[in-house]
Amino acid sequence: MKKVVKFGGSSLADAKQFKKVGDIVRADESRVYVVPSAPGKRFDGDTKVTDLLYRCYDLAKSGASFTDPFREICSRYNEIIRGLELDFSLDDEFAVIEEHLKTEPDSDYIASRGEYLNGRVMANYLGFEFIDPVTCIFFDEHGLLDEYKTKKAMKAKLMETPKAVVPGFYGCSHDGRVKTFSRGGSDVTGSIVAGAIRADVYENWTDVSGFLVADPRIVSEPAAIKTITYKELRELSYMGASVLHEDAIFPVRHEGIPINIKNTNCPDDTGTWIVESTCQKSGYVVTGIAGKKDFCAVLISKDMMNSEVGFCRKVLQAFEENGISIEHMPSGIDTMTVVVHETEFMDKEQRVVSAIHRMAEPDSIEIESDLALIAVVGRGMKSQRGTAGRIFSALAHAHVNVRMIDQGSSELNIIIGVANKDFENAIRAIYAIFVETQI
Ligand code: ASP
Repeated sequence: MKKVVKFGGSSLADAKQFKKVGDIVRADESRVYVVPSAPGKRFDGDTKVTDLLYRCYDLAKSGASFTDPFREICSRYNEIIRGLELDFSLDDEFAVIEEHLKTEPDSDYIASRGEYLNGRVMANYLGFEFIDPVTCIFFDEHGLLDEYKTKKAMKAKLMETPKAVVPGFYGCSHDGRVKTFSRGGSDVTGSIVAGAIRADVYENWTDVSGFLVADPRIVSEPAAIKTITYKELRELSYMGASVLHEDAIFPVRHEGIPINIKNTNCPDDTGTWIVESTCQKSGYVVTGIAGKKDFCAVLISKDMMNSEVGFCRKVLQAFEENGISIEHMPSGIDTMTVVVHETEFMDKEQRVVSAIHRMAEPDSIEIESDLALIAVVGRGMKSQRGTAGRIFSALAHAHVNVRMIDQGSSELNIIIGVANKDFENAIRAIYAIFVETQI
């Protein structure tokens, strides 16, 4: 049995958190590959080391002094080393980074040092080998992960290293430089490592005991999700639930490896399991509720639309020509609605409208703005009678007017459009009807 364990920034923010991580790794012999993030926030208002590094880069680039944030970074690591009572120093490493900042600052290289240094500390603390991801995570000339090359190199490296620390967040660009993933990218590194050795589990340790059914900023103390499928997760993250880095799913999903989200501060909690498919029923009919504000609905009407071959294509072409991506497209017999992001659409609005007129000759076009979309996601919904009915009666009782409904044929989710101002109320009403009533 082999497990890959990734620890987020809050799990490694100081020596106290490092010790918890050490206990977790040592408690299970199968936790053989460790992927650390950079030290995160220790308290509200604190700054993540990655953000301090970006600040150093910005200052260095503009020729200003970066001494203050750089000192802060060094002392964060020194405090951790001291707190762990390690006979080890990062002084030489700090000197290399400082020199780099002074001479040829490169944003990706600087940002990656948070994980690099934390990886060095972690390897020393656990007595594991250190593997620098520049030797085994590769990006192609378009800046995309070179999956084939990476998997081969990572596998070869891990085969000869029974226990290792692989820092998250970065790899090697096609021209041999350090390149980072987008923010939160240590999740992706963990997934690559797990995929390469076909781990039994990819444990992703954070500061919450798994994903929550709804956003805790909207619903107070929402229930946790025990098991979620990759598809459900995709729907929820697409609709704004901040969960894993989006690209962290693919490397493990290919290999059928489950992800277990766990809490470093409560290691005995089960957390959330993310799996390909499952016969485990959700605790509730819905698995999760998520949503986003600020969409626009473009309602296009034309008599006998449904018998006109190619009408939809012409309308969609008008959006495509203007580089606008489409979110949803509910349609009626003589109407179709195209839902788009307000910010993307606003500037190009009149160009799109005239293109639709030119290409599809509709009877009318109406635009509605300030629309929020809510996704109610659940693999259990398709086998439950009355799910949609309950959602809409809950919304009616909460005095929320439903402006749009879209349900895919997979019945994995129902998308509901409401006014921006009703967004929070609508989520609370849906949550209450499915979770608080416990049915
Ligand atoms: N340290 C990086 C960030 O703050 C990457 C990560 O934590 O996953 O985005």
